[in-house]
Amino acid sequence: MIQSVINEGWRFVVFFYKFVISLALFIVLMKIPMWIRGFRLGQRKGKFQCLMCGNCCRLRIIELDEEDVEKLKKQGRQGFTDSNRFILRDRGRCVFLKNDKCTVHECRPRVCREFPFQKIFGLWFLPKITFCPGVDRLLEDGFDSKTR
Ligand code: SF4
Ligand code: SF4
Repeated sequence: MIQSVINEGWRFVVFFYKFVISLALFIVLMKIPMWIRGFRLGQRKGKFQCLMCGNCCRLRIIELDEEDVEKLKKQGRQGFTDSNRFILRDRGRCVFLKNDKCTVHECRPRVCREFPFQKIFGLWFLPKITFCPGVDRLLEDGFDSKTR
């Protein structure tokens, strides 16, 4: 009796383990086309043109690294959280955005300089972003037909 309960328990553990592994594999496989597309678009970083709409300054929380903080402080800028990890926001936008223009353009943080791209394992990657007209322009510019 006890042996059969133990066997059932083991069967359940093995079944659960296989289920989790299969699910993880399925999710990874589903994401592969998106990753390939993102890395291929990343190669077009040089062709990206910012259309200065300011959406990324309104919609994102801007994270800072030590170098960003140092550069901004050298320029006498303030406007970080106490932890120096994020730029403060004012009325739902970055505090450095004034009249739809970045007032710290020369020393803007790395994530702003690199947006909408990200560096992953040393390669540029373009994630799926819906609010950047520059990305729309890049996509319209023949990615699907010319570089597929
Ligand atoms: S959302 Fe895109 S186009 Fe608009 S300011 Fe940011 S990078 Fe430029
Ligand atoms: S630092 Fe400049 S570019 Fe970056 S979010 Fe603020 S206003 Fe926009």
